[in-house]
Amino acid sequence: MASRDAPYSHLDPASAEQVDAIRTALVEHWSAPGMEAFCRRVMTDSPDEILREEAKVALGRYAYQRYDYREAERLCREALSALWGTGARGELAACINLAMVCLLGRQYFEALVLARRGVELATASGIPLAIAKGNLHLAGVLRAVGDIPRAQAALSEAERMLDQLEPTDRDNHAANLAAERVRLALLDGDAEAALKYSEESKQHAGDDNWGLLDDVLRTAVLVAAGRHAEAYERLKRLAHAGGNNPFRATRGRLEAECLAVLQTSDAALWSARSLLDWLEGAGHDEIGSGTRLDEAERLGHLLIDVCQSPGDARRAYEVAATAALERIRELQAFALDLPHLSRASDEDRQILEEYRGRFESERALLLNALARLLEQEGPATRLFGPSREDQDAAIKVCAWCQKVQGPDGIWFMPEQALLPEGPLYVTHGICEACFRRETGDEPAA
Ligand SMILES: [Zn+2]
Repeated sequence: MASRDAPYSHLDPASAEQVDAIRTALVEHWSAPGMEAFCRRVMTDSPDEILREEAKVALGRYAYQRYDYREAERLCREALSALWGTGARGELAACINLAMVCLLGRQYFEALVLARRGVELATASGIPLAIAKGNLHLAGVLRAVGDIPRAQAALSEAERMLDQLEPTDRDNHAANLAAERVRLALLDGDAEAALKYSEESKQHAGDDNWGLLDDVLRTAVLVAAGRHAEAYERLKRLAHAGGNNPFRATRGRLEAECLAVLQTSDAALWSARSLLDWLEGAGHDEIGSGTRLDEAERLGHLLIDVCQSPGDARRAYEVAATAALERIRELQAFALDLPHLSRASDEDRQILEEYRGRFESERALLLNALARLLEQEGPATRLFGPSREDQDAAIKVCAWCQKVQGPDGIWFMPEQALLPEGPLYVTHGICEACFRRETGDEPAA
C-alpha cells in the first residue's frame, strides 16, 4: 500500500494552519489505512485543543470496532466532557459512539440523552446523511426501551433524509434502516411486516453483506412467519459460522422452536436443555441481562407449552428472573446524576418511566409463572428457612410477593434492596408471609 496515496499524507498534525483540513480528513477518511496512527499523532501534536479531542473520539471509534468497549467508553467520555456544548463535529461522533457503548452496557438513560443530542447536532449541521444516521441510532435506543411508536417516527425521519441522497450513497444505510424495521416488527409480533422489511434490507445490502446478526435476524423472521424448514436449514449453516457469540442464545432458542415443529417435542427438549445449561453457566461477557431475560423466558414458554416439562421450564424461568433482578440493578443506575444528563428532556424521562413500568409488569408475569411451577413441586420444598444451608450464599427472591430478602432477613421490594455488584446468584421460593397466606399454615421451623 503506497503511503503517498494515504489521504492524510500531505497533512502535518502539528500544523495550526491545517486544522480544518485535518478535521475533514478525520471525518471523511477515518477508515483509511494508517489513519489510527495518524489520529494518535494529532492527539499528541496538534496545537488545537478541540482537534486533539476530536482525534480522541476517532480513536474511541477504532476501539469500538475492535470490540474494546471499555477503551471506547473511556476515550469518548473524556473527549465529550471537553466537547459537550461546543457543537464541534467531534461532539456528534462522541455522542453517537458513547450512546452505542451505553446501550451495550444497558445505561438507557444516558444512551437516550446522548442519541437525542446526536440528532440535535446532526440537524444543526443540515447534512442529510448525518441526520439519517443520528435518527437510526436514536431508533435503536428507543427500541431497546420498547418505545415502538417513537422508534418508528425516528426511522421515518431517517428515511426522509436518505431519500435525498443518491442511491449508491444510500444503500448501506437503507439496509440498516430496513433491518431496524425488521427488529421493530418482530417486537410488535408482526411477522408479515418483518418478512417484507427483511427482503428490503437484503435488496439494499446484497447477499454477500449478510453479517451474522442479519442472518440470525432473518432466521427469526422465518420462524415468526412459520417457515421453519427454511429457518432450520439456515441455522445448520450458521452453526458452522462460529461457536460462542452474542447470538448463541437466540440461535439455540430458534433451533429448539424449529425442532418442535419439524421433528418431535423430545428433539426440541434436548435442544432446549443444552441451551439452558449454557444460559445457566454463561458469563456476563458472553450474554447481556436483556438477551438472557428474553431468551430464557421464551425458552420457558416452549418448555412448558410444547415440551411439557415443568421442571425444565422452572429452571428457564429462574434464569430469566435472575436476569430481571440484574436489570433492576441496572435501572437503579438511572438515578445517577451525571452532569451532562441534566439536559434530559421531560419526554426522555417519561420514556424511561414507561419502560420501567412495562418491565415491572413483565417481571410480575414471569414470577407468577414461576410461582405456579414451584407450587406444583410443593410449596414446602421451596420455603426459605435457616435449614437450607445451600441457599446461604444466594439472594432469596419470593416468587409470590416478588420481594428480595436482605442480609438481616427483612424482605424488601427489589428497588429498595441493595443488590451486590457482580454476577447475582439467586434462588426463588416462597417467603414465610406468603406461605401463611397461601397455605393457612405456619411454616415449619
Ligand atoms: Zn412473599
